[in-house]
Amino acid sequence: MEYRRCGRSGLDLPVLSLGLWQNFGRTGHEDRQRALVRHAFDNGMTHFDLANNYGPPPGSAEELFGRILRTDLAGRRDEIVVATKAGYEMWPGRYGTGGSRKHMLASLDASLRRLGLDYVDIFYSHRTDPSTPIEETMSALETAVRQGKAIYAGVSSYSADRTSRAVEALDALAIPLLVHQASYSMLNRWIEDDLLDVLEGAGAGCIGFSPLAQGLLTDRYLNGVPAGSRAARSGPLNPDRYLTGDNRERVRALNKFAAERHQTLAQMALSWALRDPRMTSVVVGASSVSQLDDSLRCLDAAELTNEELAEIDRYATD
Ligand code: NDP
Repeated sequence: MEYRRCGRSGLDLPVLSLGLWQNFGRTGHEDRQRALVRHAFDNGMTHFDLANNYGPPPGSAEELFGRILRTDLAGRRDEIVVATKAGYEMWPGRYGTGGSRKHMLASLDASLRRLGLDYVDIFYSHRTDPSTPIEETMSALETAVRQGKAIYAGVSSYSADRTSRAVEALDALAIPLLVHQASYSMLNRWIEDDLLDVLEGAGAGCIGFSPLAQGLLTDRYLNGVPAGSRAARSGPLNPDRYLTGDNRERVRALNKFAAERHQTLAQMALSWALRDPRMTSVVVGASSVSQLDDSLRCLDAAELTNEELAEIDRYATD
């Protein structure tokens, strides 16, 4: 595993982190999920990304990861970075969502109970809440850190402008922003406009999520929608929207180009997302150990040349 320093903090993160958003929780495949976490850890993926609402059902990903920490990974807590988030709908009523101190701090306590931990390493504001003063949301992160319930503070999916304001608010509280977690892939490049510059200036790292575009940037859908795949379930990957004829043609071309580089498309998509040294890590999902193994081998690849990057841009755009 290759590690990169997260901004100007003292924390190193593996370039590949494991995300437990989908395929993790009460899915009836606990053995497979345990094997995935063990395989990740054994290969140096020491950073596990969670949120209060990951599952299905919401909360169950934290419960299962907590059980794995107490069993398969017993005694390894200090070798692992555990991240969680709050901000999306989690429980009924006025206080089950958003960026208020009321929601954020109650949610963190509930996450710690589910995980069976005294603290997480990174606590994120999962999304901006324009109806709450950003100073209040940041003060919730600060309280979590001062209480020892989180070691570092992060934000996710904040615009560049909101990120600058979050940094200012945290500065006033003498807490640094460790990291921003943002969607990033060959098909989704919004962070390149301003966000990476803002983060560099603030000394914060950047973690890219969904670097495989939820499986689109792999060989998973080259010949249809396989049973059991994310696109086959009702959820965030709507095949009518994303698996159009035009998109499939582009993915086929990318797949062919990756093969010429002696890589799978997944590996090339990960190499691409990690090509800027300001990217601290990408957080990948996987539904099997073999998928994870495939993704891990992106570490063996040669760097993408400018000519190769230009070739990729012929098929993959924002
Ligand atoms: P990816 O883009 O990595 O997509 C993962 C999916 O791609 C897998 O579930 C699998 O699909 C398929 N796949 C993975 N590896 C391979 C491979 N080598 N070959 C073929 N197919 C492969 O990321 P996710 O969308 O899962 O997101 C990753 C993590 O990012 C989440 O778990 C979460 O931690 C974080 N995240 C954060 C968000 C935020 O708001 N902060 C939002 C979304 C994600 P299949 O299941 O069909 O087999």
